[in-house]
Amino acid sequence: MTTLDQSRHLATAIPGPLSIELTKRRTDAVSHGVGVTMPVFAKRAGGGIIEDVDGNRLIDLGSGIAVTTIGNSSPRVVDAVRAQVADFTHTCFMVTPYEGYVAVCEHLNRLTPGSGEKRSALFNSGAEAVENAIKIARAYTGKQAVVAFDHAYHGRTNLTMGLTAKSMPYKSGFGPFAPEIYRAPLSYPYRDGLVNKDLGSNGELAAERAIDVIDKQIGAGNLAALLIEPIQGEGGFIVPAPGFLATLLAWCRDHNVVFIADEVQTGFARTGAMFACEHEGIEPDLMCIAKGIADGMPLSAVTGRAEIIDAPHASGLGGTYGGNPVACAAALATIETIELDGLVERAAQIEALMKDRLSRLQADDDRIGDVRGRGAMIAVELVKSGTSEPDPELTKKLVSGAHAAGVVVLTCGTYGNVLRFLPPLTISDELLLEGLDVLALILADL
Ligand SMILES: *Cc1c(COP(=O)(O)O)cnc(C)c1O
Repeated sequence: MTTLDQSRHLATAIPGPLSIELTKRRTDAVSHGVGVTMPVFAKRAGGGIIEDVDGNRLIDLGSGIAVTTIGNSSPRVVDAVRAQVADFTHTCFMVTPYEGYVAVCEHLNRLTPGSGEKRSALFNSGAEAVENAIKIARAYTGKQAVVAFDHAYHGRTNLTMGLTAKSMPYKSGFGPFAPEIYRAPLSYPYRDGLVNKDLGSNGELAAERAIDVIDKQIGAGNLAALLIEPIQGEGGFIVPAPGFLATLLAWCRDHNVVFIADEVQTGFARTGAMFACEHEGIEPDLMCIAKGIADGMPLSAVTGRAEIIDAPHASGLGGTYGGNPVACAAALATIETIELDGLVERAAQIEALMKDRLSRLQADDDRIGDVRGRGAMIAVELVKSGTSEPDPELTKKLVSGAHAAGVVVLTCGTYGNVLRFLPPLTISDELLLEGLDVLALILADL
């Protein structure tokens, strides 16, 4: 990592000849059901750079989808993983446990919002964390129904596909889905505000709209859990209007409904707080945590109030690999790095830098409908000039231009018209601004 030059460099066209060769092998060997955003093969990565097999150095504005938040191959993580892998790679925590798992849970109980007694359980993926949070909520309440929101993304397993809103590419043709899943309207300030100004800015009103649907179509007496991303990820980096989450949480408390915050994408310093719920001052009953937790090693968690998370019978929760010791060592080093290097504060700096640059761009370009997000989780919603109509074609062109110029940037949103920025917090200001300048130039040309 120390030898990886922190500058954008194009050695070949993108993709280069070695990536093209590997893409041929990939086409022959890998299921065509697995998609790829950018057909370049990675060789090394660190700081704010991904170097490909052809020697191109790309500016990383994606962090492998909000995973390598502390920077790829972060030095403390590399050391911790090396040491753990030399000691033992696996015993299964359910067979002979080990300290690393317990230590990760202690940190999660300390770092998550809420001062009461908490406990955690570890798994492998975000989807697995969501599935387990729902198992726990059902065991605790003795009820079955789960409500998720418009534009939600919760994963690709059967239960989490059902909870996810968007059909293509996540669900189409893969049903039937699990029963007892319902959907409620979200607070989407930009689009709500186009229809009704009050609804766009008043989170309590938006929550009342959702609660009305929940009351009429499900009934609190049947509802085990309300599941929500405090800032939506795949759905378009939608930050709900102030008061929306708090009003929903208060309703859940009054009706014995478990409030589950899916912080898989928003957690671990990403939004300028350790967890996004802190921005709204709310303390969820359960939290699902994954992506940024272990710098890319597969690990996820459910953390929450002890009385709820202890509800399942002994051995009702678990899994062969859940809380793997190498992944736990990586998580402990990740937490240490966030705290010692002040990365929560760094995410807030990145927000200021990006919002300043992007708002100035928006002032000169009416195809930028909205600039939103928190911390190093910032999005731009692109619309047809002078309207609020989503422009997915423009978004596609802009992103492919950025890729060709050596900037890794992702899209999201129900309408495919949202550019999302998830830079590693270790990126330099210079690289970050250069990445945005490249995008601005391409947009001006389109
Ligand atoms: C990515 C994501 C998931 C699924 O995580 P996987 O590790 O891909 O299973 C769930 N919820 C949210 C909010 C996510 O962003």
